[in-house]
Amino acid sequence: MKIVLFSAGEAADEAAFSALGGDLAVLSVTAPLDAGNVDAHEDADIVSGFAGCDFSAATLSRLPRLRFIAVRATGFDNVDLAYCRARGILVSNVPAYGDSTVAEHAFGLLLALSRRTVPCAEATRRGDFTFCPDRGFELRGKAFGVVGTGHIGRRAIEMASGFGMTVLAYDAMPSPDLQGRPDIRYVTFNALLAEADIISLHVPATPQTDGMIGAAELARMKRGAVLINTARGQVVDHAALVGALECGHLAAAGLDVLPDETLLRHPDKFFAPDQAPSAAQLRAALAARALASMPNVIVTPHNAYNTQEAFRRIVETTIANIRAFAEGNPINLVG
Ligand code: NAD
Repeated sequence: MKIVLFSAGEAADEAAFSALGGDLAVLSVTAPLDAGNVDAHEDADIVSGFAGCDFSAATLSRLPRLRFIAVRATGFDNVDLAYCRARGILVSNVPAYGDSTVAEHAFGLLLALSRRTVPCAEATRRGDFTFCPDRGFELRGKAFGVVGTGHIGRRAIEMASGFGMTVLAYDAMPSPDLQGRPDIRYVTFNALLAEADIISLHVPATPQTDGMIGAAELARMKRGAVLINTARGQVVDHAALVGALECGHLAAAGLDVLPDETLLRHPDKFFAPDQAPSAAQLRAALAARALASMPNVIVTPHNAYNTQEAFRRIVETTIANIRAFAEGNPINLVG
């Protein structure tokens, strides 16, 4: 069977995958899978890719032999699961490779914002060692609102508790073990928006979470609140977020994920024939660029997953997923 490993530089270890052995031949491709390169790999039986890969029906329909997609991430919102089901293509993910990894990044963004780390460090890089005029704030005693109390959300809760914050939680399916804890208060979504000083998003991208933080939700947030998003870009309306930050309603935002990240990463691709971006995609890209240049915003390029430990777990789990599929006992299936 032929395996094509797309985005080979991201969360992949070619040597480890090549050692899969048996009748599994591995081809590494640096680029993510997309409409432009799919036809060169029409003999693929298995593909593996990262968050930037295009696993839409239009692209997958050009891989006639495809039987298995090994997503090297937790989120699989870039896969058309209905199409895969209809064609009998199985899809696996890496369910829990980096709960602490991602939660730590959420706190990294929050601490950098609360202590003005980026402008201070930029000043000293310029040789300016004067005291920073911009004053930060403490986390201790603040209300931390967690949206999504799954694997990553519960690590964020532990960290918030460690900082002496009070914890408000919202989840469509609250976790019974967390519900019983005296240090966590599950509240309605609107109560969390109204009461939290800091809101950290840890829900998957689904039709239900698409635009979950829009203009109305931002307006319900406390004046001076901080929004952290390490989940998925489409959960937040970024044009509305620009407005909330510009007018000072929100104090700051830390964003590791943005809508249409591929458009931001490879704008050239979208201006190829037949691939023009939609007006909505262009608006989102403009908002993302505006946010990245704002002094009270920190944007990282989908980097929350990126630690040595998480990388190792992603590679090990993906190899186990491929091996299990090849042996006829697939694991970690989604959809
Ligand atoms: P998880 O499945 O363990 O937890 C998600 C939680 O969200 C669940 O408790 C679920 O009940 C809740 N939820 C789902 N839909 C909801 C809704 N409409 N309203 C309220 N709650 C809802 O997932 P996880 O491992 O904690 O990961 C969360 C997300 O983080 C992933 O889906 C992925 O998109 C993102 N992620 C980002 C990075 C990164 O590098 N930035 C890395 C890993 C994961």
